[in-house]
Amino acid sequence: MCLDCLPTRLSRRNIMKFAGLGLAAAASMPIIASASETKHAAQHEEKPADQHHAAAAPALSPNEALERLKEGNSRFIKDANACAANLAGRREELAGGQHPWAIILTCSDSRVTPELVFGGVTLGELFVIRNAGNVLDTGALGTIEYGAEHLHAPLVVVMGHKKCGAVAAACDVVQKGTQLEGSIGKMVQPILPVALNTLFKSPDFVNETVANNAISGAHRITEESHIVAHLVEQGTVKVVSAVYDIESGKVDFLDAA
Ligand SMILES: [Zn+2]
Repeated sequence: MCLDCLPTRLSRRNIMKFAGLGLAAAASMPIIASASETKHAAQHEEKPADQHHAAAAPALSPNEALERLKEGNSRFIKDANACAANLAGRREELAGGQHPWAIILTCSDSRVTPELVFGGVTLGELFVIRNAGNVLDTGALGTIEYGAEHLHAPLVVVMGHKKCGAVAAACDVVQKGTQLEGSIGKMVQPILPVALNTLFKSPDFVNETVANNAISGAHRITEESHIVAHLVEQGTVKVVSAVYDIESGKVDFLDAA
């Protein structure tokens, strides 16, 4: 629940309740009262459209799932106070199983949070894999296969973001011969051929490599996974790439793999 919800619910539901009490008593109780009110209100208030899909298997087509992400991102851009209310209720609904409708491979960057970027999407909606540079390694590919094959999520998104530090590090290796210490060098190795192919082709080397890395990752999913490739051929799964702009909040979808 976002901070905006608390005063709204308190003012609407609790002020009448507390009208007969002293102001000091009312002021001392808002947190306890709001917690019980949140659960109570969740049972009676109409839920946002996104929340109706928690307990049932996703009935969305790949294109409908993509449209839902785009609509969510538009809401995020218009109103960054995106609100995911009724988390306690959602947790109870989902305890018996999950049916996410989109798989997101993206960067671990703290500014790139898929549930927020796509408009306050709450528990049980997105199946998310994150690592620095949204690298498609074995763990990421296996997780994507699990989400698509066993959880039946109809959409896979590989989402890079502008000003990505991991991609910038890979660009430094290619452009300046920088040596990366520890496991970071190994981690960014899959980005190196993408950076090499992008070098000298754009004045915006890092951000162009970010886009090409997302496209490359999306293509590699179907090239390296016969499970996902089969689902794509059947038309039950779509794989797309995207770039998130950390300044504007906008997600640009690049292509369908
Ligand atoms: Zn990043």
